[in-house]
Amino acid sequence: MHEYSIAESLVNLIASQPEVGPRSRVNSAKILVGRLSTVVPSALEFLFGIVPKPDNMKGMKLVVEEVAVHVRCDKCGTEWEPDTPVFICEKCGGSRATILSGQELLLQSIELDDEAPAA
Ligand SMILES: [Zn+2]
Repeated sequence: MHEYSIAESLVNLIASQPEVGPRSRVNSAKILVGRLSTVVPSALEFLFGIVPKPDNMKGMKLVVEEVAVHVRCDKCGTEWEPDTPVFICEKCGGSRATILSGQELLLQSIELDDEAPAA
C-alpha cells in the first residue's frame, strides 16, 4: 500500500505550501497523477481521507486528476497516446520512445477558505 505513504507526503507537501498559513483552512487540493505512475487514484483519495492531518486540513477534499500518457518515437518523431505500457510506434514500428507525460505526480492547486485572513 504505497499510496498510504504518498498520502502522508501529500499532507506534508500541502501543509508546507507558502500560501497555507496556520490561520487558513484548506478546503481542497488538486493533484495530477500520470497514468504511468503506479498510483491508484481511488486508493489515494481514500487513504488521504484517513491519514493524520493538521487541524486546518481536517475534512479537506483531495481531487485526483489523471493525466494521459504521451510518448514520442525516438526514430521518426511521431507522438501518440499509448493504451499499454509497451510503446511501439504506430508509424514506423520503432520500439524506442520518449515519455513526454504520464509519469507525474504533481500538486496542482490548493483551495483555501480565507475566513480568517492573516493580519
Ligand atoms: Zn516511429
